Amino acid sequence: MRRDAAAPEQRPVTVRKIRFLGDPVLREMCREVESFDEDLQALVDDLQETMYAADGIGLAAPQIGVPVRVFVYDVRDEEIEPGVLVNPRIVEASGTQREVEGCLSIPGLDEVVERKGRVVVEGLGRNGEPVRIDAEGLLSRCLQHESDHLDGVLFIDRVSPLKRRMLLKKWSKMDESER
Ligand code: ZN
Repeated sequence: MRRDAAAPEQRPVTVRKIRFLGDPVLREMCREVESFDEDLQALVDDLQETMYAADGIGLAAPQIGVPVRVFVYDVRDEEIEPGVLVNPRIVEASGTQREVEGCLSIPGLDEVVERKGRVVVEGLGRNGEPVRIDAEGLLSRCLQHESDHLDGVLFIDRVSPLKRRMLLKKWSKMDESER
């Protein structure tokens, strides 16, 4: 299952276009990754490059138009390593937290979202190695937000219907140039 390290093929890393609310790919139930091949490595590289270019703390594959279960994250905390999760599952969740949240696919909008306080997420790394993350605070919020993307769920789905209507109204009034 490992990538062949002996034959590193040079491929330019690309900042990809981030898909915005309204793009149907953001609403897809993403498929599981089955092969840790060159295409997956390229996808992970592009996700990281695009996340940093957009100054985000997390980015999921559907946000660059690829409906597979992969996301990257970096909460910019010296104590917390940036990472990649493939086929992640939230296996434990407890407590609650309420903080303002935004999304690179819905720029300009943010709202308080209630999330689990602590989560344990299990999945695979970019080479298929098992990964288990026990997270609280911002990292926990980020892992829940990005996991939602893989099921076609956006943060605006996790606020009250009234708040959602207000957010969607604001979004529809925003000029493309503001996004
Ligand atoms: Zn998002």
